[in-house]
Amino acid sequence: MTDVPDLQRRHFLLGRFAETSQPAEPPVAVITQSCFAHRGVACMSCRDVCPTGAVRFALALGGARPRINTDRCTGCGVCAQACPAEAIRLAPLEAAS
Ligand code: SF4
Ligand code: SF4
Repeated sequence: MTDVPDLQRRHFLLGRFAETSQPAEPPVAVITQSCFAHRGVACMSCRDVCPTGAVRFALALGGARPRINTDRCTGCGVCAQACPAEAIRLAPLEAAS
């Protein structure tokens, strides 16, 4: 078996390390169709518990519905735990838009 020269091995390892050590983007909250507001039931639990004020309610046909401001959402998941309809999941930002 031939040995890989140290320089190439080091380059490979550093490259791999750099690739895997990139901090992953934190997820953001995504509200699904199970949300009570989509069925005309008043609920604002997610807004009430969000520590960053990322949940806002916007008027829509049938009543106000929650919207996530992804610039403010830290992906902490507190809203998902508080949601009585289990309507909130955490997902990568790309999947949230
Ligand atoms: S807590 Fe859940 S059910 Fe209530 S408004 Fe938020 S997403 Fe909808
Ligand atoms: S995940 Fe955290 S920061 Fe984002 S909307 Fe829910 S409670 Fe707010």
